[in-house]
Amino acid sequence: MKEFPAFAAELADCIRVLHHQGHSPATSTNYSFKDDADRLWVSRSGIDKSSCLDTDFITIDAQGKTLTPFEHMTPSAETGIHCAIYEMFPTTKVILHSHDLYPVLVAHNKNSVHFEGFELQKGFPAVKTHHGAIQIPVFPNSQDMNDIKSHMESRKEELKYQVFMIEKHGFYTWGTSLFEAKRILESFSYLCKASWYLTK
Ligand SMILES: [Zn+2]
Repeated sequence: MKEFPAFAAELADCIRVLHHQGHSPATSTNYSFKDDADRLWVSRSGIDKSSCLDTDFITIDAQGKTLTPFEHMTPSAETGIHCAIYEMFPTTKVILHSHDLYPVLVAHNKNSVHFEGFELQKGFPAVKTHHGAIQIPVFPNSQDMNDIKSHMESRKEELKYQVFMIEKHGFYTWGTSLFEAKRILESFSYLCKASWYLTK
């Protein structure tokens, strides 16, 4: 029998809201969390996020292999990124992913995205004032998750704001709670949108 942690329903509720805000067109994006027993749960491949449910999560091991009783199901193609984040930042409990449009526009042909002077920079961890500049890394897109993991490892210091962008693709955020990960997602999304319009 399959049992789903209560948190899976909470995360599924959030995913449906994010979908309506444009974060996951055409079945894209993927999500994961660590339950109270430290088991990893990731969204399965190809689901329409407008109708995401708690039963759309499956358990995986630290290398991304599906565990019983989900061994016949396919985890998200980007599961390797989730595994890399949990490995590099062990206090992580939730990982969110977005294919929002404005970050793709702002990060195009860039090695990093800069924000300066915005109030919402305070949405990032440990940022207490709008003064100063924030820099978020941008990695090249790849279908090989090991390529993205190696960029994450070589630029780990730049991941202190718990968000990174993949060019022409989307961004990942993570946190010790859904509250934190969602706050960072909304901050980055807003800042990219504001930056895009300010430079037009
Ligand atoms: Zn993606």
